[in-house]
Amino acid sequence: MEKIDIKCLDETQLKEVFVKLSEKPFRASQVYQWMHQKLVTSIDEMTNLSKDLRAKLGEQFAFTVLTKAEMLVSSDASTRKYLLRLADNNVIETVWMKYRHGNSVCISSQVGCRMGCSFCASTLGGKIRDLTAAEMLEQVYAIIRDTGERVSNVVVMGTGEPLDNYDNLLQFIRMLTDDKGLHLSQRNVTVSTCGLLEPMRRLAEEQLAITLALSLHAPNDELRKQLMPVAKAYRIEQLLEACDYYFEKTGRRVSFEYSLIQGVNDSPKEAEQLAGLLYGRNCHVNLIPINPVKEKSYRRSDVTNVLRFQKILEKAKINATIRREMGTDIDAACGQLRRRYMEARNE
Ligand code: SF4
Repeated sequence: MEKIDIKCLDETQLKEVFVKLSEKPFRASQVYQWMHQKLVTSIDEMTNLSKDLRAKLGEQFAFTVLTKAEMLVSSDASTRKYLLRLADNNVIETVWMKYRHGNSVCISSQVGCRMGCSFCASTLGGKIRDLTAAEMLEQVYAIIRDTGERVSNVVVMGTGEPLDNYDNLLQFIRMLTDDKGLHLSQRNVTVSTCGLLEPMRRLAEEQLAITLALSLHAPNDELRKQLMPVAKAYRIEQLLEACDYYFEKTGRRVSFEYSLIQGVNDSPKEAEQLAGLLYGRNCHVNLIPINPVKEKSYRRSDVTNVLRFQKILEKAKINATIRREMGTDIDAACGQLRRRYMEARNE
C-alpha cells in the first residue's frame, strides 16, 4: 500500500492521524512546524521528537522533498528557473522572480498539461499526472531553501491547469496561507485558469481572498477556439459571467491574461474588441508578449504592436500592464526548459 505523504496533511488532519497512532496531538503541531515553517528536508532533523517517534514516522509516511535537477539564472540575475525532480523522477519547472516589492514564485500544478493551448510548450507531451499539495508547497520551500530569501507572492501559473487539479490546489492554498505554516497572505496568491467554468464558480464560493486570473488570449470565441481547445466547451460570455460571480462573492477584481502573438491576436481591431468586452469591469489586463516556442511558428508581437494594444485598452479606461520580460535568455516560457531536459534525457 502506498504511504500517505505527511506533508499533504494540514495540522488538523495530522493531529487526527497522531491520535490514531497513540501519539499526543501537540507532537503533530511540532511536526507541522518543522515541515512548514522550518522547512526541514528530513524527519531526522526534527530534533525535539524522540528517536523512536522519528523512526515510526519514517516507517509510516512518505516525506516529499524536491531536489534541484537544473537551474538557470537570467543575465540580470532577477530570474531563476528551476527544474525540480519529484520522487517518481518526473521533473517540473518553477520560476523565482525578484521584484523591488518582494520575491515571487511561479509554480506548476501538474506534470504536463492536457489543455492543448496552441502557443504553449507545456502541453506538447500531454498531462502525465496531477501534483499533490505537498509537491506544490515544496516548490516554494525548495526555492526558499536555495535562495535563503523570503517569498511574498505565489502565482499558480506554471505548467498545468490548476483548476483541473482542484482539491489538491485548495489544500495547497490553505496550507500555504495557514498561520502555522509560511502564512502568506491570500491576497498574495494568484491562480490562473484557461477557463474551466464549473471550477471557477466553485472557487468563487470558497470565498478566499486570492486573485483569479483568466487566460483570455483572444477577444472573440472564433479566434479563441483556434488558440485554445477549451474555448470549444465554454464561450467567453459564460467565462466573463463566472468572473463577475467571482468578484461578487469575493470582492476581488479578476485579472485577464492576454498573450500577444504577432499577426494573430495583436491588431487594433482585437484590442478594440477586448476593450468592448471588458469595458466597465473592475479588472486588470496583463499583456504578455509570448516567448517563441521552438515547435510552433508563432512569433512574439513587436514593441509597436504591444504598445498600441495597451494604449487602446487604456483609452477605454481599462487598466493594462505589459508583463516585465524576464528570462527570455533562460527559456522562461512555461514548459520549455522541461522539454529540453526531457529531450536530452531521451537522446
Ligand atoms: S497555457 Fe496553461 S492551460 Fe494552456 S496548455 Fe499551457 S499550461 Fe496548459
